[in-house]
Amino acid sequence: MPLSLSGTKMAGLSGLRSIMEDVAASTAGASADEWLNLSVGNPAPVPAARDMWRAALAESAAEDFDEAGCRYGPSRGSHALVEAVAHYFHRTYGWELGPENIVVGPGSQMVCFAAAALFAGPGLHGDRRIVLPLVPDYTGYQGLCMHEDGIVGVAPLIHREGGPRFRYALDTQALRRRTDIGMMLVSSPGNPTGRALSRADLDELTALAAECEVPLFVDNAYGAPFPRIAEVHTEPVLNDSVVNCFSASKAGLPGERIGFAIGHPKYIGPIASFMSNSVLHAPQLAQHALARVMADGRLDATTSTAITPYYREKKRFVEELLGELLPADVDWRMHSGDGGMFCWLWVDHPWFDDTTLYRRLKERKVFVVPGRHFFVDPLRTPGLAEHATRCFRLSLSADEKVIIEGVHRLADVLREMRDGA
Ligand code: PLP
Repeated sequence: MPLSLSGTKMAGLSGLRSIMEDVAASTAGASADEWLNLSVGNPAPVPAARDMWRAALAESAAEDFDEAGCRYGPSRGSHALVEAVAHYFHRTYGWELGPENIVVGPGSQMVCFAAAALFAGPGLHGDRRIVLPLVPDYTGYQGLCMHEDGIVGVAPLIHREGGPRFRYALDTQALRRRTDIGMMLVSSPGNPTGRALSRADLDELTALAAECEVPLFVDNAYGAPFPRIAEVHTEPVLNDSVVNCFSASKAGLPGERIGFAIGHPKYIGPIASFMSNSVLHAPQLAQHALARVMADGRLDATTSTAITPYYREKKRFVEELLGELLPADVDWRMHSGDGGMFCWLWVDHPWFDDTTLYRRLKERKVFVVPGRHFFVDPLRTPGLAEHATRCFRLSLSADEKVIIEGVHRLADVLREMRDGA
């Protein structure tokens, strides 16, 4: 059956999606336990987070079911959650928010999808694109856009640091040369690097958004005020040009699909209408559960006593392991130190290729994610192909035994690649 142009794009499997299918197919069935999956984007099973969500959902099922489960609700979000969000951000940051500043969606991915359809695309003073100010960034952003070439990423400046470290910086001059910005989107702390925007970064991006009269979407899925999986250098700001996105997923509830955005009504209003027109609204029992844990302090307590310490310790453990096990004569570097759910590694040698590493590790029943998928069209971006294909992502969500064995096999493959074997 023929598909429309946007249908063709949306029905296609992105590079990363096809790898995820590969992971699912390979790990199905009786031999599933033999695989070491270091590619997952799932949050780790932090016991206190699981207990919190299980209790809050049970309370919602017991007390909110008639109101939340048996009726359609508002597209902007259930009254309980919108009110809880307004109070929570007033308490936390002193923000004065009304319902017109808030919209809830079935996951922050869907909120960003709506935004992409509304604020970027053909017909908006020429073709306006989703611009990612610093790639690598969350590979899921590449599926947000229904049009070919509708999303672009600005290559980073790369700084080598002491030890096996490197760090990206915003190339603001390159960003400012773009004349096609419809919206900007950046995860902070970022997936895959854990890099969080500094005050100077945020000021620069906010000023550019205001000049171009476009929204800057800051995706706080890993950041502040919850779940603080990585270190945050600059707390979210309330600004007419900034739309802040938040998600319950990385705080431990990815399956129930709840995210929300806060911003100026000129951006939030159209997103709420988009929800009416597309999904009607987000699941309501889960909205009520989120409202409960935001209102009574459980979310903050679980963040500070369980989620943040869990990932801090895991990152420290994996950093140490990599230092011990990876060959000392290989120039491997890790993106430096803001924590996060992942390690982002760069092997700066001509013999290294991310997809070769993927294939060879898969032969040894280990999955990692090739670096190229976190850049937009890297092979067609001058100067970026070499770097993008020399990176890969390791997830910290797996348990320690799996990570230890996976890193042993990674070290073996690196030695083989180095020796041309
Ligand atoms: N934003 C980032 C940076 C992510 O890494 C992910 C998932 O991996 C999402 C958003 C998706 O969030 P949600 O589950 O709320 O749609």
